[in-house]
Amino acid sequence: MSLIVTGSIGIDTVITPEGKADEVLGGSCTYFAAAASYFCNVRLLAAVGEDFPDAHDAVFRHFSIDTRGLEKRKGSKTFRWTGKYLEDMNERETLDVQPNVLAEALPPVPEPFRDSRYVFLANTHPAGQMELRQQFPDARLVVADTMDLWINTANDELKALLKVIDGLVLNDSEAKLLTGKTNLVAAAEAIVSMGSKFVVIKKGEHGCLLLHREGVVALPAYPSREVHDPTGAGDSFAGGMMGYLAGCDDLGLDSIKKSLAYGTIVASFNIEAFSLERMKQITRTDIDARMAGFADMLRVA
Ligand code: AMP
Repeated sequence: MSLIVTGSIGIDTVITPEGKADEVLGGSCTYFAAAASYFCNVRLLAAVGEDFPDAHDAVFRHFSIDTRGLEKRKGSKTFRWTGKYLEDMNERETLDVQPNVLAEALPPVPEPFRDSRYVFLANTHPAGQMELRQQFPDARLVVADTMDLWINTANDELKALLKVIDGLVLNDSEAKLLTGKTNLVAAAEAIVSMGSKFVVIKKGEHGCLLLHREGVVALPAYPSREVHDPTGAGDSFAGGMMGYLAGCDDLGLDSIKKSLAYGTIVASFNIEAFSLERMKQITRTDIDARMAGFADMLRVA
């Protein structure tokens, strides 16, 4: 099954205790699409500006991402983000953010993308997420991501979006901000009561929590030693998760649980290097090998 994603494609500058990367490829839908590409066909719908370097296009080709919905818009500039991680890499500060083309309308959905049955609304303005959601009324699964910026500045649009999607993926501090609850299970219940059918709360190095009408699942993160750049961990987690679900086209709870484990594994590779450098080196075989070790580690009976 084909999976379509919209979100940000960014030029990132990232500082971590392990080093600095200047003007590298980033963005929520970039990380998402690369991660999902190990499992299914991925279609990208997003705009960049005239300043978008050709070298970055090659990265999309590397992952065989369908870029017929990627517009290089004349007169516009690419989204830019600069972030700095603290010694504890669970903490990050945004030093600069320039929405640029993200504040403009999405490109039109190309005709061959219309049969996409899986839709992921990666982190971007909820109005852009709603715009894409409405164009896929018959999708089998629609999931969105969000962040504190949109919870604070576009709360009404975000709440309207929650009523028309199947699932929301967000991190623990965002779940607390959105609901005012400090207990994560209570926060997850509050989010489900706002409309989405399930919610996945990401807890960084502490794993994730799924609340679904058929049950609750909590998974640890993969125990990683080599953390060089956590940027895109959440997006690559969501990419592994949605890519696995679109690839198997099974939405039972067991399948969703396995998708969370695949998301965890792809994210664990992504954080081993800056930008998409580590994901560029690995294949599905590497993912499956680490997944087997993770499954062994989780077996308790
Ligand atoms: P993550 O680490 O999973 O939160 O994703 C980081 C990516 O999100 C970076 O590559 C940024 O380019 C992108 N990003 C940062 N801020 C925003 C924003 N306000 N809207 C959309 N994407 C963003």
